[in-house]
Amino acid sequence: MLFPTLLTLTLAALASAFPARRAPAQVVTKCTVPNTAALTFDDGPYVYLYDVSKALVAAGAKGTFFFNGNNYGCIYDADQAKRVKYAVDKGHQIASHTWSHAHLANLTWDELHHEFWLVEQAFQKIAGVTPAFMRPPFGEYNDLVREVAGVRGQTVAIWDFDSGDSIGKTAAQSNQLYDDIAQAHPSTILALNHDVYQQTAQVVVPHAIATLQKAGYKLVTLAECVGAAPYQGAIGTPALRDVRVPFLFSFVRLI
Ligand SMILES: [Zn+2]
Repeated sequence: MLFPTLLTLTLAALASAFPARRAPAQVVTKCTVPNTAALTFDDGPYVYLYDVSKALVAAGAKGTFFFNGNNYGCIYDADQAKRVKYAVDKGHQIASHTWSHAHLANLTWDELHHEFWLVEQAFQKIAGVTPAFMRPPFGEYNDLVREVAGVRGQTVAIWDFDSGDSIGKTAAQSNQLYDDIAQAHPSTILALNHDVYQQTAQVVVPHAIATLQKAGYKLVTLAECVGAAPYQGAIGTPALRDVRVPFLFSFVRLI
C-alpha cells in the first residue's frame, strides 16, 4: 500500500509545483444532435433582426444571434437593447460576438477579458442572461482566446456552412448554397449568416428555412443542436441601467 500512497503524494506535489494550465474553451464547429440545423446570425443587433425572428417563429423554428456590443450601433441604445430583449423573449438564443468586432488573435489577455466582459455585462443588464457561447469575429482565435473563453465559461462556436452573405454573395447565390447543402444532406448543419443585411433577412432566411425544413431538418438553436445550455445559470431579471454620466456632466455644466 506504500507505493500508491507515495504516488499520490508525488502527484500532489507535482500539481502544486506546476499548476494546471487554464483550461481552454471547447471549440464547436458542428451540431451533434442528428437531423438538426442551427441558423446563426452575426454582427447584430440591428434593424433586420425582426424580419429574421418573424420568419423563424412563423415556421416554428429558432435561431441564434451572436451580438456585438458596438458594431452596428451601441447595444445600450434603446432600439438596440430592445432587439436584444426581443430575441430572448421570442425563444432564440443570444451569444457573444464580443464588444467591438476586433481581431481577437491580436489582443492581450487583459484586452480579451475586456472584449468579453463588456458584452456579458450588457446581456445581464438588458436581458438577464450570461452567454455560454461566443463566436470570435472573422472566426479568428488562438490559444489565448480559447483560454479566456474557458475561464469565462464560454464555448467557442464556429460554423460548417457559410451562406457567404458577408463576402459578397448575392441573395440568389446564397439561396443556391442552401439548395446545395440540403441536396448533399449532411447529418447536421451549423450555418453562418449575418442579419445586418436586408437581403439576408428578407430573401435568404425565408428560403433557407423552407429549404432545410423540406429536407427534414429541425431548425433549432446552437445550444440545442449540440445538446448544451444556452446560458450560464438561469435567465434572471434584467438589471437596472447605470445612470448616464454624460447627462450628469452636462447638468453640472449648466449650473
Ligand atoms: Zn462578425
